[in-house]
Amino acid sequence: MHHGPQALEPHGNQYLVDGLEPSVHRPRAQTRTIGDTPRRNAIDAELVEHPNSGVENTLVVLRNCSSLRTVPVHGGDLGTRILLRGSSRCTRPPNDRGLPGERCTYDDGVDDKTPVLAVQGTILQTPTPNALEVHSDVVLAVGGEGDILAVEPSGSSAALAITDCAVRTLRLSPSQRLLPGLIDTHIHAPQWPQLGVGLDIPLERWLFEYTFPLESRYADAAFAQSVWDHMVPSLLSYGTTTAVYFCTIHEEATRLLAETCLREGQRAYVGRVAMDHPEGTPEYYRDESAVAGVSASARSIEQIRALDDPLHLVQPIITPRFIPACTDELLRGLGELAARTQALVQTHCSESDWEHGYVIDRHGCSDTESLRRLGLLRRGTVLAHGNHLGDADLVSIASVGAGVAHCPLSNAYFAGAVFPTQRALRLGVQIGLGSDVSGGAHPGLLPQCAMAVTSTRIGEDGVDALLPAAQRGMPDTRIDTVTAFHLATAGGAGLLGAPLGLLEPGRQFDAIVVDLEREHSALRAWDGLDTEDRIFEKIVRLASPADISAVFVAGRRVR
Ligand SMILES: [Zn+2]
Repeated sequence: MHHGPQALEPHGNQYLVDGLEPSVHRPRAQTRTIGDTPRRNAIDAELVEHPNSGVENTLVVLRNCSSLRTVPVHGGDLGTRILLRGSSRCTRPPNDRGLPGERCTYDDGVDDKTPVLAVQGTILQTPTPNALEVHSDVVLAVGGEGDILAVEPSGSSAALAITDCAVRTLRLSPSQRLLPGLIDTHIHAPQWPQLGVGLDIPLERWLFEYTFPLESRYADAAFAQSVWDHMVPSLLSYGTTTAVYFCTIHEEATRLLAETCLREGQRAYVGRVAMDHPEGTPEYYRDESAVAGVSASARSIEQIRALDDPLHLVQPIITPRFIPACTDELLRGLGELAARTQALVQTHCSESDWEHGYVIDRHGCSDTESLRRLGLLRRGTVLAHGNHLGDADLVSIASVGAGVAHCPLSNAYFAGAVFPTQRALRLGVQIGLGSDVSGGAHPGLLPQCAMAVTSTRIGEDGVDALLPAAQRGMPDTRIDTVTAFHLATAGGAGLLGAPLGLLEPGRQFDAIVVDLEREHSALRAWDGLDTEDRIFEKIVRLASPADISAVFVAGRRVR
């Protein structure tokens, strides 16, 4: 059975997406191959008669490896008069009869800035923690490597040039919205089978009684593969286009996870977990020694970097579990490995009272300071949780360009505090959002957004009604859905240093299409009531996988 990204049925010049009304830009026309053009020997050209035109206006589809483009030409004299429009060389639009508005001689190779996909619709996104951006009815051009080339107002000459040149055009219906794909900056892949259970005991017991026994089972590659085969497509259906995974200590299970992400088209950072501490780990589930742990992590990096991955979807990430599970020798070795390989680093940091206090007892300083001394606090280092970070820690994290994976649902069970999102943002810390599966008992990032908002509301108001209202909570600490969605998209992208999280030129087209008119869904836009900001808030709080009708990663439809 083929598990790869879903192939799209070309229909005219159009992607067909479930639930999307096909709107045929150009009816399928008669096609015949006319062979190489004289000046472009490497290009096979197909002559497609324009259905609405005569001899003077025909369309040529040029094939050159993976790139395809449609260009208008004068009929009759293809050898010398192939003309371009909508390219980087010629941006004048066709006139309303479909004729070229300006004609340029095609005098070099098919450039890699040709759009392979044009998407028309309304974009909702959050470039800053306080700004919702609405781009009503725009056309977005996607290049062959998944990069967004342009976003132009629909109907503008530039937009017409994009849809004219694009191999496929997708037109969203008025009841659909396009949003950036969601970036889960902290998820434990092997804990997928215990998602939804085991939240009755504190972290230090939860690890030894539930989690380490489960994670040790991934020595069995067949078991690992069966979990990855279920998990990765499920996460894509929730709109998680990028996941930053903790795997297990097993190299093979880790490589299989990376391969599964690649096969399913999910962008991922995949980390073999390193852990060797004789007290912080069970005998049956730990690296044999610090040296063995560093070597296994180094091999895992090489294995992931060796995968056939032309779109660079999957990267390795160095993953010491957390300080209590690692000896200093292992942590120092992984710090050196990070410097040598330039791979990103992830770990848990100041998560709970127990964990935060343990590091102070062992190292005489906070997690952050300890990680800094060991070479693990680097640009792009993902520190999960961070609930107990003090201001000095936050400043230190911001100053090196590391950041926090905020896991609000998990924190409610294990952290003993609400993460100070506003304070961390004020101090310049990059923050992404994480599900922390299975400490966080939900795989979806949109429910995590809602939880991030809810937890700050509880934190601001306080919880003990026997205290006077004014003394109950932490004033001015709430966040709203705009901030939460920013963390789940552009915030996570900023933390990882990846061109993701916003639908704008220069970033990758990782996106979700949300439907506002699905039958029996609570998510609905009401005429005359719902403005775009209300629609956005409803999507963040209410959209389920069933409301997400398409998911794109690197310009490819993956769900
Ligand atoms: Zn975690």
